[in-house]
Amino acid sequence: QIALRGVRKTYGALDVLKGISLDVQQGEVLVLIGPSGSGKSTLLRCVNMLEMPTGGEVWIRGSLINDARRGHRAQERYLNAMRMKVGMVFQHFNLFAHLTVLENIMLAPVQLLGHGVAQARAEARALLESVGVLDKQDVYPGKLSGGQKQRVAIARALALRPDAMLFDEPTSALDPEMVAGVLAVMEKLARAGMTMMVVTHEMRFAEKVADRVVFIAGGRVVEEGRPAAIFHQPAHERTQAFLADIL
Ligand code: ATP
Ligand code: MG
Repeated sequence: QIALRGVRKTYGALDVLKGISLDVQQGEVLVLIGPSGSGKSTLLRCVNMLEMPTGGEVWIRGSLINDARRGHRAQERYLNAMRMKVGMVFQHFNLFAHLTVLENIMLAPVQLLGHGVAQARAEARALLESVGVLDKQDVYPGKLSGGQKQRVAIARALALRPDAMLFDEPTSALDPEMVAGVLAVMEKLARAGMTMMVVTHEMRFAEKVADRVVFIAGGRVVEEGRPAAIFHQPAHERTQAFLADIL
């Protein structure tokens, strides 16, 4: 469903992604791990074109996303449509502070998908229920805990009915007691068949939920495989050293 072919990204003289090729099948959960600065966030941002890759190809559902032959206006329209199909959740939840929880979820379906307000409200409530914060529907984000905000952020992304979800360290800014609830929501989503790319340091989550773990270092894929293989029998010295540091 997502295919990366030789994706490169440079910032001036800084070579951040040095040719990354990866496939994520429909319904697959891919966990990306790697040292700080190795390019994990940059890679996710290249998948939904928050960053334009400097080279290589990004394919989503059989369409080439960064097609240089498309004109500027056509490309803009195309990217807007594509971004609705690929949800993203960041480390720092960016909910709209002046909207209630329910309004945060309803905004995009009403404004971007043209859903009726009643339908959008019903769907938003169902999503809030599924992430366990329905009781907060009329509250403003400022009154939520970090874990609740992050679960609302997930529900907001899901409200666009994406085909795939990207998560960039969704729990690393949370107090420890908030982490489990967010991971549980992600696990539920994975079990429901969502295609997911997840950057995380939560190795137990990765081991339990990932279909495949990819270790990235220095802008390259060093090693990938089933979680049990990567965590218990890593083949490469760099993977071994990284895991020894964090486990
Ligand atoms: P972390 O685990 O700390 O989040 P990461 O693997 O996500 O790290 P990236 O955020 O992808 O790493 O950054 C990779 C490299 O690219 C870093 O050296 C970073 O400084 C650089 N970089 C990222 N974004 C930009 C930017 N907009 N302009 C210039 N350099 C950038
Ligand atoms: Mg990062």
